[in-house]
Amino acid sequence: MNIPKTSYPRVVIIGGGFAGISLAKKLSKQEVQVVLLDKNNYHTFQPLLYQVSTGGLEPDSIAYPIRKILKDFPNFHFRLANVEEIDPVKNKVLTDIGPLKFDYLVVASGAETNYFGNSEIEKNSMAMKSIPESLNLRSLILENFEEALLTSDLNERNALMNFVIVGGGPTGVELAGALAEIKKGILPKDYPDLDTRLAQIHIIQSSDCILKGMSDKASAKAEDFLEKLGVNIWKNIRVTNYDGKLVTTNTDLTFETATLVWAAGVKGATIKGLNAGDFITKGNRLFVDKFNQVKGFSNIFAVGDVACMTTDEFPNGLPMMAQPAMQQGKQLGENMVRLIENKPMIPFEYNDRGAMATIGRNKAVVDLPRFKFQGVFAWYVWMFVHLFFLIGFRNRMVVFINWVYNYVRFDREARLIIRPFKKKLKS
Ligand SMILES: Cc1cc2nc3c(=O)[nH]c(=O)nc-3n(C[C@H](O)[C@H](O)[C@H](O)COP(=O)(O)OP(=O)(O)OC[C@H]3O[C@@H](n4cnc5c(N)ncnc54)[C@H](O)[C@@H]3O)c2cc1C
Repeated sequence: MNIPKTSYPRVVIIGGGFAGISLAKKLSKQEVQVVLLDKNNYHTFQPLLYQVSTGGLEPDSIAYPIRKILKDFPNFHFRLANVEEIDPVKNKVLTDIGPLKFDYLVVASGAETNYFGNSEIEKNSMAMKSIPESLNLRSLILENFEEALLTSDLNERNALMNFVIVGGGPTGVELAGALAEIKKGILPKDYPDLDTRLAQIHIIQSSDCILKGMSDKASAKAEDFLEKLGVNIWKNIRVTNYDGKLVTTNTDLTFETATLVWAAGVKGATIKGLNAGDFITKGNRLFVDKFNQVKGFSNIFAVGDVACMTTDEFPNGLPMMAQPAMQQGKQLGENMVRLIENKPMIPFEYNDRGAMATIGRNKAVVDLPRFKFQGVFAWYVWMFVHLFFLIGFRNRMVVFINWVYNYVRFDREARLIIRPFKKKLKS
């Protein structure tokens, strides 16, 4: 990999997401050699992926080059590499660009979509976990309307304009809200010769409420906002299959649709060599102790979504969100220095700063530890927080200008089919 030799201990970090970047920033000023490996050369701000999928933002504005984030640190090295295997016995990672030895390894590989073993849903549905997936979804949405315009078959037209989102968490709710706004504000102008009132947006949720991890008030208000926007919310219903045309559920309810978005689950993105045995927990996450040490190893750590750290408040592990990932990355950076200096490490304590979701223009729900509020002010808070955590001044400016433009003009100008999406048909 052409990494210079040094007398410093080598820390290899797998993943330049929220956790990996926080850790690398913390370590890069220390007397360690940091090698960050990522299969992409950019960091993705996943909370705004839904805006890319719905033409509100260009993908470049929510991605940032990893090399640029850490360009000022001489002990930092980035390699564009997909880590294929971890050899915890030989202290080595195996990648598509060759092997690399480590003194310390930190797995920060995040999460991947969980289809719960249903291969047909996996094959036929759309996911939204990465920029390429969001661009696929953007293309498909727009292609559907182009096709709907051409067909004279009413059933086919309805299916093309029917959007089914499985999962009523923040991703499903935010995507549904954005689609509802497109239906209201953009489709009638773009497709005057298509009866776009027929477009339907459905959220299917297996439990009895949406935004389950948030307060009852946030959940109820989000539901109210969505219903006012014309989104159909189906609760206590489980999707059982999707063959590319028909969604079946555990009830008599079925949906004909050309687009099923699967936002119903994620699991840890573990890597071969460290993906079996008693260090794996439910949800395919690596079981870590209070110091983010992977069970059974003294020099292997995990942070962020892939790590499962249980607490009294979170017996199933800390939430798979940006805040725990960033806080763990930062704290592990401090702890690794202590470890190298033979000082005792400090146990991690999660500082829960709350959760929020936006449903659309002037509509958001915010649960802070002390205050819970919904509506216009919540929407401003949501925008401020997302701008604040975006990496890069240019990105912040571009996103801000886009939001102001979209707000004033009721528009989403990135509705472009740059890379057409070809749906895999059932074989
Ligand atoms: C659509 C969506 C909306 C979200 N909205 C919110 C929100 O509003 N608020 C919130 O707090 N959280 C939100 N989240 C969750 C949040 O984005 C994650 O919790 C957070 O990204 C976790 O950070 P991480 O560093 O653990 O992983 P990630 O940020 O996912 O980073 C993992 C990195 O590892 C790399 N990687 C993975 N496997 C390999 C490999 N084998 N080899 C090399 N590199 C690899 C990936 O390329 C990636 O760069 C959202 C997530 C999604 C998908």
